[in-house]
Amino acid sequence: MQKIDYPPEVRALVSQLKRLPGIGARSAERMAVWVLQDRGGFAEDCARILGEAAERISACATCGFYLSQGNACAVCDASGREVNTICVVEQPTDVLPLERSGAFSGLYHVLGGRLAPLDNIGPEDLRIAELDARITSGASGETAVREVILALSADVEGEATANYLAELLSPRGISVTRLAQGLPAGGGLEHADALTLARALGGRRAL
Ligand SMILES: [Zn+2]
Repeated sequence: MQKIDYPPEVRALVSQLKRLPGIGARSAERMAVWVLQDRGGFAEDCARILGEAAERISACATCGFYLSQGNACAVCDASGREVNTICVVEQPTDVLPLERSGAFSGLYHVLGGRLAPLDNIGPEDLRIAELDARITSGASGETAVREVILALSADVEGEATANYLAELLSPRGISVTRLAQGLPAGGGLEHADALTLARALGGRRAL
């Protein structure tokens, strides 16, 4: 006797939903059932919005934050910011928690991850050359940047990334600082509340 399974369209929907971070087989199935039962136009709206986001959103060539096609970068274009301080973060999602803390008014640079030799993620896989280029400007290599704040995760890989960047930037006369402890060990910036982030920024230390 042949075993009963969902039609191929439902199976395809479940297997796509399962690819989302934090979504297991059971959750994917529940979400698929909800989508199929919905009569409010979710599937059509979601398909359109997903397509538009994937097509129109890219990374800003300078800072690495999300950039909407045809628009200026919200991070780089903000006037009145301190141009001599760059805060380095791992992911675009780390920028907004720092902004909400109200403790930082400089520029941002998104690395796109952190050094992880075990996963074969080296310096060339991150936006380190772009950071270098931002700091080195003009033929003589003069720079407006005086301080680079490393707002990286408080774990082994974050530590390794911070040390690498400190070795790269410190010899060039740039003050390299790192967020003070106060962030949860092993936790990303997106989980920290505004007060914790503000204190961590206030207590940053030189490397
Ligand atoms: Zn930008």
